[in-house]
Amino acid sequence: MTLSPESPSPGERISETAAEDVLHDVETQVDAFSSELDMDPLDNPRRLLLVHAHPDDETIGTGATMAKYAHEGALVTLVTCTLGEQGEVLVPDLEHLAADKDDALGVQRIDELAVAMEALGVKDHRFLGGPGRWRDSDMMGREGNNDPRCFWQANFDEAVGEAVKVIREVRPQVMVTYDENGGYGHPDHIQAHRVAVAGFEAAGDPTRYPDAGEPWQPSKLYYTAMSRSSMQRVIDYFRDNPGAPSFMGPEITDAADIPFTVPDELITAQVDAREYFDHKMAAMRAHKTQIAVDGPFFAMADGFGHRAWGYETFVLARGEKGETDGETGRESDLFAGIQ
Ligand SMILES: [Zn+2]
Repeated sequence: MTLSPESPSPGERISETAAEDVLHDVETQVDAFSSELDMDPLDNPRRLLLVHAHPDDETIGTGATMAKYAHEGALVTLVTCTLGEQGEVLVPDLEHLAADKDDALGVQRIDELAVAMEALGVKDHRFLGGPGRWRDSDMMGREGNNDPRCFWQANFDEAVGEAVKVIREVRPQVMVTYDENGGYGHPDHIQAHRVAVAGFEAAGDPTRYPDAGEPWQPSKLYYTAMSRSSMQRVIDYFRDNPGAPSFMGPEITDAADIPFTVPDELITAQVDAREYFDHKMAAMRAHKTQIAVDGPFFAMADGFGHRAWGYETFVLARGEKGETDGETGRESDLFAGIQ
């Protein structure tokens, strides 16, 4: 595939130069399957494992954090549970890849993810059980939920066993996934949550999955969290910029009405990764069938980018809260308190 982003069209809203530079810095061809580590995980004193549902979720939710830790020398491992085969295709030339046409979107998204990981500087990315082991389940309530190949229908023990294998190999101190509702209720996100939590709980127990490697207990587990105040800024931005492509209709005026936002006082960690904003933007561009450059994500980046996309927030779900920043009362480092 060609990795150079398309030339901007006249009037295109995003500030893209820096993000393009990052993309141009990465290799122009990526073998999507060659993500094997050429290092011993334990050579890295800090190890972070993220479990996400589809290619692009990692970038939208946690891309700046991943880039920050990767650039600071931590081992960042991404486990993606499906190939996102049911996704909408936003690039007209590639519409034929959609599930209801050629059904070939998965391979395209493997490529997109590989490029995005280059942009973030993340070298270790894998698919749970291998690429294509579990299929995208589509949105809740759709026929895809019943497909025996899909992640929603996965044999739970098998899926957890695959997660345990990765945890025991990589030995992360810190894990990140979604909350019980999978962030916003997508079945693959809910299942990713269940599998990651069960993996976190089983990996340290020698009686569980005895063939999946030496037991290892991660110290902390975080859920990704969209704070209510950040969402309110998004709502206000689109209200004040009615020409911008928005996620939501004008009837939504209060972030508290959006069920997946988290009240600010419940946020326990806030990672300031504004320095890695351009990496995150480049990774978003890499997910080109999923994130339109003239769509709301980039409109937000244009409007109040570093603030919107450079901070990522989390809720500690297991483990001890470490040192906090006095001003916010939140941890600023996911590894806080870890020896
Ligand atoms: Zn997703």
